[in-house]
Amino acid sequence: MSYTQPIPLLDLKAQYAPIREVEGLEREIAAYSAAAYGIGVTSGTDALLIALMAVDIQPGDEVITTPYTFFATGGSIHRLGAAPVFVDIDPVSYNIDPAAIEAAITPRTRAIMPVHLYGQMADMDPIMDIAARHNLYVIEDAAQAIGAEYKGRRAGSIGHFGCFSFFPSKNLGGFGDGGMMTAQDEKLAHAARLLRNHGAEPKYYHKVVGGNFRLDALQAAVLRVKLAYLDGWTAGRQRNAARYRALFAARGLAEITLPTELPERRHIYNQFVIRTARRAAVMAELKARNIGHEIYYPVPLHLQECFAGLGYRAGSLPESERAANETLALPIYPELTEEMQAAIVDAVAAAY
Ligand SMILES: *Cc1c(COP(=O)(O)O)cnc(C)c1O
Repeated sequence: MSYTQPIPLLDLKAQYAPIREVEGLEREIAAYSAAAYGIGVTSGTDALLIALMAVDIQPGDEVITTPYTFFATGGSIHRLGAAPVFVDIDPVSYNIDPAAIEAAITPRTRAIMPVHLYGQMADMDPIMDIAARHNLYVIEDAAQAIGAEYKGRRAGSIGHFGCFSFFPSKNLGGFGDGGMMTAQDEKLAHAARLLRNHGAEPKYYHKVVGGNFRLDALQAAVLRVKLAYLDGWTAGRQRNAARYRALFAARGLAEITLPTELPERRHIYNQFVIRTARRAAVMAELKARNIGHEIYYPVPLHLQECFAGLGYRAGSLPESERAANETLALPIYPELTEEMQAAIVDAVAAAY
């Protein structure tokens, strides 16, 4: 029996469907974030790495960032042989303190990497101003901040790159890992696209050394469906934050510092993080009642073992260290009910 149908060398039509999902998500996230370009990648961590590679960060270069963040922020800088230069945070917002950035600039400084922690954007105006005066790149770590706003501008639309994560714990989470870069400049967007696919252009002709950093099409398909719900979920998180404020206020627990929403921000509450001098007691009460909670982040990056060679000491960055010792995340997911929140506030109050 001979097979009579034509057999192509490759079937681009069959290949097109998944590619369409990735390109569709890139367009949609770029539009959602008010950015010119979207580049789907493997994870938020890889988004940071590719952004640094795209602006040609080299061994010996310095990148200024915050130590009070998830490890990927500092790790991505170190992986390129560059030095993360950690500066302290503003204790109210927990974001990088712009006043500390300028003092840390040296002739080797190439970029600033602010993190929009817990869903509230860093103070971008002074950061962009410092960057412009010193000719530095700005890479926004927006992994926790999809849809967050600063003076009406969205996370990922201000710096040279915005780096997003679709890890399941983020506000827009996939069914596994995924990430997205946003960019404003066509050349930088192109550089990121090239790096994502082993630097090949065209196929098999490699202009630079990149990697396989492609976003999985299955994740893109899931994320496109979920994106339609994101604003509703964000509204749920904001409603829950307001409920916590009312519940804590009713208790008169002045010793507990609730998250501060700065003026002219849209806070998307990836986390609802309280500050308490009695954290161990609060955690014990929550644990006894089976209420989820987490310390983000118990050890600031400048005190991590792997960065011991950078020469920081306990006391080097006191506000970051104090935050690491005193903060605690409570449940904030959109489906939380008022009854559940009342039980959570009861548990926290029991420690006082
Ligand atoms: C989650 C996160 C990342 C890393 O994203 P992954 O997708 O998990 O690699 C980077 N920075 C911050 C601030 C994050 O919260």
